[in-house]
Amino acid sequence: MSAEPGRAPDRHVLILGGTTEARRLAVELAAAGTRAGAAADGAHAGSAPDAGTARRGPAERVRVTTSLAGRVAAPVLPPGETRIGGFGGPAGLAAWISAHQVTHLVDATHPFAERMSFNAAEAAALSGVPLLALRRPGWTPEPGDAWTYADSLADAAELLPALGTRAFLTTGRTGLHGFAHLTETWFLVRSVDPPPDFVRGDPQASPVPPRLEVLLARGPFTLADERELLARHRIDVLVTKDSGGTATSPKLTAAREAGIPVLVVRRPAVPQGVVEAESVAAALHWLRYDHAH
Ligand code: NAP
Repeated sequence: MSAEPGRAPDRHVLILGGTTEARRLAVELAAAGTRAGAAADGAHAGSAPDAGTARRGPAERVRVTTSLAGRVAAPVLPPGETRIGGFGGPAGLAAWISAHQVTHLVDATHPFAERMSFNAAEAAALSGVPLLALRRPGWTPEPGDAWTYADSLADAAELLPALGTRAFLTTGRTGLHGFAHLTETWFLVRSVDPPPDFVRGDPQASPVPPRLEVLLARGPFTLADERELLARHRIDVLVTKDSGGTATSPKLTAAREAGIPVLVVRRPAVPQGVVEAESVAAALHWLRYDHAH
């Protein structure tokens, strides 16, 4: 972001975050603002600015705000401004957009953050700001993979007992209650913070599987990490969401190498009519050209 006291930004991009792509987009927008600001400052000082900047005149001011849900206790904060916590549904988000003169909305939430993506679509329609959904591509199986697809976490819980008895459950620390009835399966769950419902004896807590071990750790994890983890815990089935991101994931490679079946939960549908980009570069292109003022 390039900020100049007294001059309002030309654009205010609100990124709905919580993903690596959201953070990378904020980094790119902040860096672009800094470069544009430096080039414009150079022009004022009489040095030779690059021809493109000179033709375009004064640099465009871009304000960037990333919004986080507040699920992680100590999140890695991106550059630019940040705000944390829900907006209070689509109407609350639309009100925030209008109160903060947001000009562009980028839904860069996780592909499984279904509610927020629908809220974003509704809020964009209410407030009239252009919306882009930044969705990294999903994973595709490679030779040697033994994948079974599930349509939902509930479906995964139905299919799991036929595939193994020692499960590495990487579908997130929320939603464990969906597996709580599987008394014969031993579960390993890895998460940054403890599962919210992992407070044994708390009458308010949702049930969790009775045979459960929680491993607190923050990625990224290497292939060596994943191989070691699968072997140490004698894992015989991996459960994952089709989160995507990188071309593949070390846990998927480790499972393939070890001949372990993988239960892949399919992504929920995206709201109809929303423009999608699969990469940060494509999102930057959309911000720069498709909706230039
Ligand atoms: P969700 O079910 O789609 O959203 C539930 C509520 O959380 C929303 O209605 C909204 O509250 C609030 N919310 C979600 N994302 C927000 C954001 N970026 N900024 C402000 N409020 C937000 O979301 P979720 O699946 O719980 O995911 C929560 C966050 O974790 C997201 O930012 C997502 O990117 C990240 N994440 C999710 C997953 C996953 O597997 N679901 C995995 C990794 C990271 P209001 O209605 O009050 O605005």
